[in-house]
Amino acid sequence: MRKPFIAGNWKMNKTPSEARELVNKLKEITGNRTDVDMAVCPNDVSLQGVVEELASTNIKVGAQNMHWKESGAYTGETAPGMLADLGIEYIIIGHSERRQIFNETDQDVNRKVKSALQYDLKPIICVGESLAEREAGKTKETVTFQVKAALAGVRSEDIEKVTIAYEPIWAIGTGESASAEQAADTINKIRKIIAELAPGKESEVRIQYGGSVKPHNIEEFMSKPDIDGALVGGASLEAESFAGVIENA
Ligand code: PEP
Repeated sequence: MRKPFIAGNWKMNKTPSEARELVNKLKEITGNRTDVDMAVCPNDVSLQGVVEELASTNIKVGAQNMHWKESGAYTGETAPGMLADLGIEYIIIGHSERRQIFNETDQDVNRKVKSALQYDLKPIICVGESLAEREAGKTKETVTFQVKAALAGVRSEDIEKVTIAYEPIWAIGTGESASAEQAADTINKIRKIIAELAPGKESEVRIQYGGSVKPHNIEEFMSKPDIDGALVGGASLEAESFAGVIENA
């Protein structure tokens, strides 16, 4: 049985003090839940404070990006060992904003996934099609390519540590979510790809939906057996709404 997993991607929002305030409220409301895995992913400068505030709760902490190298002359970048040392558990890799705005390639995503696993960070790998790709009937082709590229060379025993977040780009931050049927259809395809890459692991890998998930629509997504949770952007920026997504999951 896969445990539902709800993660919040704060993107470039919240100062370190605001981040502490948010998680303090969040832990009051939902910090002890054990039936759902929960994580928040603040900006790097807020990670330490958030780790401290959430220390005795069941809410885990993730980062939004990392470099694949161990250390070195990469000004402005964060190494996986730095995140692991802070007690970070999850790492979002290949979010569409990183792919589109910062030109992250599928090869970069793959390097980051393999590096994260070496440091015991659990990757949340984002994949998803653009509106043009969906309209051209290329959703499954796009997502298949992204998943295979991201997991190339990943050992079968490591694949279960990975979460895939299926996030159609046209649904991110737009208020227009995919329908539960659209999401489940693509997620079912992703599960088949996992079965091809690592037979048997398809029943263990968690696959989230992401794209305008709110407290009022999470239930619909969770009613689909293949959807294991959500990666939540906008609705994770307030304790009440993020807790509402968790509550209704
Ligand atoms: C995201 O940023 O991963 C996301 C899904 O954002 P939103 O929930 O705001 O669409």
